[in-house]
Amino acid sequence: MQWLEFKWLAYHEIHEWGFCKWCVAFAPDVVSRSAKALGILVKSAHKNWKKAKEDYKSLQTRQYHQFCSEKFFNFAKMKETWT
Ligand SMILES: [Zn+2]
Repeated sequence: MQWLEFKWLAYHEIHEWGFCKWCVAFAPDVVSRSAKALGILVKSAHKNWKKAKEDYKSLQTRQYHQFCSEKFFNFAKMKETWT
């Protein structure tokens, strides 16, 4: 399976779980109290590999994921400026 298209994915081959590292890092800021909106890949690990691609693609359409990716890239840019 091709995972490289999901740049945000952090996965563990042995334990077989996956997380969205952008959302894990930034979603608490973005979503604050409506934590219910955060589901698989953020609050709990992703384990259903049979529908992994579907779930990943649906995460990518979530607004909070898009916010988080923006934050992530801003953060990365900031880091570059500092070093
Ligand atoms: Zn995400």
